[in-house]
Amino acid sequence: MSGLVIGIVCAGFGVLASLTDGQGISEEPPAWTQAVIHKVRTPLSESLSLPIDGAPLRIVHRREGAARLDIKAHATTEEIVVRLEGDGWDSPSPLGRRTLEQNLAHELAHHRQFQAGPTEGEPLWWHEGTAEAMALGALVRSRVWTAGLASEWRDKARMQCVGALGRGTLDDLWAGGDRDAIYACSYLMVEAAAEASGMTVLRLRRGATRAMASGTALSDYLEKVAGKDMARSLHAFAGRSYVHVDGAWVIEQLQQGEL
Ligand SMILES: [Zn+2]
Repeated sequence: MSGLVIGIVCAGFGVLASLTDGQGISEEPPAWTQAVIHKVRTPLSESLSLPIDGAPLRIVHRREGAARLDIKAHATTEEIVVRLEGDGWDSPSPLGRRTLEQNLAHELAHHRQFQAGPTEGEPLWWHEGTAEAMALGALVRSRVWTAGLASEWRDKARMQCVGALGRGTLDDLWAGGDRDAIYACSYLMVEAAAEASGMTVLRLRRGATRAMASGTALSDYLEKVAGKDMARSLHAFAGRSYVHVDGAWVIEQLQQGEL
């Protein structure tokens, strides 16, 4: 990845770099996307207790012609990279802005995770589900999002997870890289576990990181703090096939620890 960096532009916040691909395409991220990130990065970082200039941030844009509004952000321990793809980013839109805010919050949440301890070896659903939940919490606490927007986002996650449950077991979908299963269903699992434990996601995650560092399995930790019923339901939700069952009902059963 770093071998592809061809230029660095300072925009008054963090570091922005443009990137080139094999065909020599290199584009500056549209100014409005930079403005959105500039506006929300500090409040989001603060609400995640992250140093404001902690993680170098790169925004990359590849238009590549197609009418798309895609985003592929990722975080390493060193930096956050937000890759915008498609010409849908050329002009501002509410959907584009929300997508940027949510993705940035998600990647900042990963940085918070990295700072709290090693994340290698933790299950994918736990890694991504806690990042989604931490991101949503940060978006609301920082008032970047209203409670109404957060609740719309939750409804969308439920719908996406219902769709995923109709495609196969989560274990299989996670292994196959199914995004709805990885993000939406995992988020719902984390939310259910936090609810059952009576802890915030941040506290639940802190406890789990400590437990895993001392050799306790995540499932054992969750059974201890969220109870046997929730632990069993999380296990069933991940491994059983609900292809022929109403997904909305399955999610409700999970939330009540009745799977
Ligand atoms: Zn992630």
